[in-house]
Order: sequence, then structure tokens, then C-alpha cells
Amino acid sequence: MGTENKIDQKRRTLLKGTAAAGAGLAVAPGIRLFELAQAKPADQPVSNATRWGMLIDTSKCDDCSACVTACHEENGIHSTGHPEVDPQWIRKLNVKDPETGHSFSLPMMCQHCETPPCADVCPTGASFRRADGIVLVDRHICIGCRYCMMACPYKARSFEHQDVTEKKAVAPRGKGTVEACTMCVHRVDAGESPACVEACNADGHQAMTFGDLNDPGSEISKKLAQEGGKQIRADLRLNPGLRYQGI
Ligand code: SF4
Ligand code: SF4
Repeated sequence: MGTENKIDQKRRTLLKGTAAAGAGLAVAPGIRLFELAQAKPADQPVSNATRWGMLIDTSKCDDCSACVTACHEENGIHSTGHPEVDPQWIRKLNVKDPETGHSFSLPMMCQHCETPPCADVCPTGASFRRADGIVLVDRHICIGCRYCMMACPYKARSFEHQDVTEKKAVAPRGKGTVEACTMCVHRVDAGESPACVEACNADGHQAMTFGDLNDPGSEISKKLAQEGGKQIRADLRLNPGLRYQGI
């Protein structure tokens, strides 16, 4: 097997979650590990015992885009100078209720649906949902048909129009393929929070909580039980892993 093939194989393995970085990582200063005891051992596949999710309190999100900046840095996304074609794994939306005038700002990204229409329509199997709820695109299989972009009700996916010259090993990307938030799967498998969550907390906003929706003792489950949280377009019955407060 050539060097490139070996690298491809390694990336596919990472994306499919059949292997992951070990849980016993050294904790760097400032890095907030979540529920480390739940981090999956490196030799075990992901399982549906866990359902990764995120709770976002939009009342803490005004005038801030730390999550967007962190996502771009983590995943090697650079502005092309043409905003209309820039990939958007996470974006800030300003929402206004026309009846009350109430407005707020929220981060929008892949909602990691339990029944993802993007995967349903994908003709190649490139779009798939891991057993732990993280929805991904295998860019080695994606043919760029963009059916998934049309199927996604959250406008959460982007088409890569440009040659990608500076990509990161943890976030393989390529011209002519579709991409979206991976929930920082490489970090999650290593027992860390997604980069957006870490940046939000590091900036003192504490608007984002990441954790296991299946575990009633997790911080996210406790907050949902005590304070509540809504799904965006719950009427679609996609049961997203993303939940919001203040909407
Ligand atoms: Fe797929 Fe869109 Fe749901 Fe993400 S939000 S899982 S891209 S349908
Ligand atoms: Fe699947 Fe890629 Fe087509 Fe999306 S663009 S439906 S991921 S093959």
C-alpha cells in the first residue's frame, strides 16, 4: 500500500469511528475534558450507548462569534474572500420574531439528526450517522452531487468550490465535496469537548454544554431536565442532537 493510500485508510478509519485516540491523554492547561470516564477506549468501536448532544443557551450568545472562529481554526477553514462560497460549518444567525419584535442570535450548525435526511438521500453512502449520533460525510466517497444539501432543512452543509491547499489531518476536505460540522469527532473520540464549546467556555460565556444525552447524570441531561431545551423545527421529527434555550 502506498503512502497516500495509507493516509486515506487512516482518515477513513477516523471518520467511521472504528478507531480513536486513547482516552488517557495528558490534560493540557486550559483544556476542559468532559466526563473523561466515558471516553471510549481506543480499541472499541462507537456504540449507541452514547448519544452526543449539545445544549446552547442563546441568551448568552449576543455579540459573540467565538464558536465560529474556533471552528475555523480547529478544522482548517479559511476565508476565500468570497463569503458567498466560503464553507460554513457553523454560522451565527440573527432571528427576530415579527409578532413580538423579540430578537436573538444563535449558532447554527449540523443538528446531528437522529434520522438525518442528508444520509437518506445520499446515493453513495458518504453521508452517514455514527452509532453515537454524530453525522459525518466521508469525503473519499462523496461525489459532490449535493442531494444532501437540498435535503437538509437546516442549511447546515457547504459545498467546497475551491482547491483546499491547507487542510488538517483531523478534518480532511477537498474540492467538489460536501462538508459540515463533525461535532469535532476527532476531539470527542479523544475525550475532549468540541472546539466551539471549549472556546465559548474559555471566553466566559458558558453558553454551550456538550455531553451524553443518554446519560441522565451528564451535565447536559441534568440541564435539560431542570431548565428545558428546544429542538429547532421539532415538527420535522428528526430528533436533533442540538438543543437550544432562549428560542
Ligand atoms: Fe444532516 Fe442537516 Fe440533520 Fe446535519 S442538520 S444531520 S446535515 S439533515
Ligand atoms: Fe452524498 Fe456527497 Fe452527494 Fe452529499 S454530495 S448526497 S454526501 S455523495
